Amino acid sequence: MTVKFSEVWDLDVLFPGGSNSKELRLHMENAGPKLDEFETLARNFQVPASKEDAEQVVRLLEEVKNTMLHLHQSDAFIGCLMAQDTEDKKAALLQSEASSLGARFQSAVQKVQQDLAKTEDDVWTNLLEDQSLREFGFLLNEWREEAKMQLSEKEENLITALSVDGYHGWSQLYDMLVGEIKITMTVDGKEKVLSVGQANNLSSHSDAAVRQESYEKLEAAWTEKEEFFAKTLNSIAGFRLAVYDKRGWENPLQEPLHINRMKEETLNAMWGAISKNKQPFVEYLNKKGAMLGKDGLDWYDVDAPVTESTQQFSYQEGAEFILKHFEKFGPELAKFAEQAFEKGWIEAEDRPNKRPGGFCTGLPLTEESRIFMTYSGSMSNVATLAHELGHAFHTYALRPVHSLNRSYAMNVAETASTFAEMIVADAAVKNAETNEEKLALLEDKLQRSVAFFMNIHSRFLFETRFYEERKKGVVSAERLNELMEEAQQEGFAGGLSSTHPHFWASKLHFYITDVPFYNFPYTFGYLFSLSIYAKALEEGTGFEEKYMALLRDTAIMTAEDLAMKHLGEDITQQAFWEKGIALCVKDAEEFIALTSSVE
Ligand SMILES: [Zn+2]
Repeated sequence: MTVKFSEVWDLDVLFPGGSNSKELRLHMENAGPKLDEFETLARNFQVPASKEDAEQVVRLLEEVKNTMLHLHQSDAFIGCLMAQDTEDKKAALLQSEASSLGARFQSAVQKVQQDLAKTEDDVWTNLLEDQSLREFGFLLNEWREEAKMQLSEKEENLITALSVDGYHGWSQLYDMLVGEIKITMTVDGKEKVLSVGQANNLSSHSDAAVRQESYEKLEAAWTEKEEFFAKTLNSIAGFRLAVYDKRGWENPLQEPLHINRMKEETLNAMWGAISKNKQPFVEYLNKKGAMLGKDGLDWYDVDAPVTESTQQFSYQEGAEFILKHFEKFGPELAKFAEQAFEKGWIEAEDRPNKRPGGFCTGLPLTEESRIFMTYSGSMSNVATLAHELGHAFHTYALRPVHSLNRSYAMNVAETASTFAEMIVADAAVKNAETNEEKLALLEDKLQRSVAFFMNIHSRFLFETRFYEERKKGVVSAERLNELMEEAQQEGFAGGLSSTHPHFWASKLHFYITDVPFYNFPYTFGYLFSLSIYAKALEEGTGFEEKYMALLRDTAIMTAEDLAMKHLGEDITQQAFWEKGIALCVKDAEEFIALTSSVE
């Protein structure tokens, strides 16, 4: 039998003593001189003039790496401290210290990127052919391209400076506005004053009246403040469009596509394939409405439970379930996960003062990962644990790669995690002991497909149309409601009997200034991973080696090249995307067959 796994992670092995750690203090203090040195190096860096300058570039990259790893090690550790105890005030102080160190590093790197962009084309070609720089070709070209897409250094610096109050300030104002909203509700017999987040969580409450009331009260709150939200959204989009205009970027998708290293054709192929295959999910939504005793499904019932999952797993049982099914996919993944359990890389205990949600973080200097979540015994907790282990496995697969070649984009970030989660979720459906249990697990999977194919599609449709209208002027709250409702009708292919007109006000993602179009990369990651999963099912255990080779390349090529090299697939074509969708369609069909036989 396997050993008993600890539910509490081991952080002391990294820096003993938590936020009072002397070793951590020393590490943070050492960051200062390291940064001074790096800044001097960056300041003295000259625009490369001949191929002899390769040496200068190599030396600089080496220092970028060293400084970055040093900062990441403490950043990740402090992130863990903050998550395990939200009242750790010392950790909060350490975090703000760490973020100012990070800002210094970023601006020094930017200076160098600008210099590299100024290199003459023929010198550049010669430089990249140098033996010592060959492995950085993709990264260096990307830096140079980015710098070239931008305005002059002076103008970009001005934009960055003005962004603090003129752009990011709007995003912070949004958080403040939402933070002020309080919803008074009677839940489980008690009157409660809820935050927006808490009220949102009631969307999956088992009592239909609670779901409807929380939705209606939230909608009323968004309506009351709609002018403020409309002003905020228009200002964020207006700022962004003005910057794009100055840089000569006409398409609002240029930046998000560039960040995700993908082509617009690929994005269109993905949505095209999804749009063609919505009918089975519409049928699932209709069926769900009927199971809830209604004619059609309302927006506020999309997350409603139709059946109660009763199966409970102790942490040990959950861990063993994961290991058993990882083993069937491949020995490396199973061995890796077992070590993560044994070495105390996972924090899963259900106790107060922990942050909600889950994450996985990498500690690059010691080549370790830490996983954070709160485990309470449901199958969906087991799936989350598998998901985070998938992220950690991605980091593990990248170990042989140079540290500067490990920064993968958001669209491929969820590949390994969704993949690992799929292995476990599929096994759970197959192992379900009763039809009721099977239905609950299938529904869990289907809710995810509906979110990625329908809900996120509607957000994307809304955002693209909003940007087009915003180019011509300010868009009123009334018009935003209309755009949102149209997008939801289309995104859900008419599968809902009521929509959520103020969704544009309620969704934080529209107000994130650091990342534009915070929607389609989710759907990309989900489907990309599913297509790889479909291939793994075809090829069996031998696939693991190919899978790890793909993960290793996630940060050094475009999404199109990655799929072509490792899967032999052209992702600019709808046919690729349909393979992943087909797996989800099967879930919908099974759900409908099962609910028809139960009746
Ligand atoms: Zn994830």
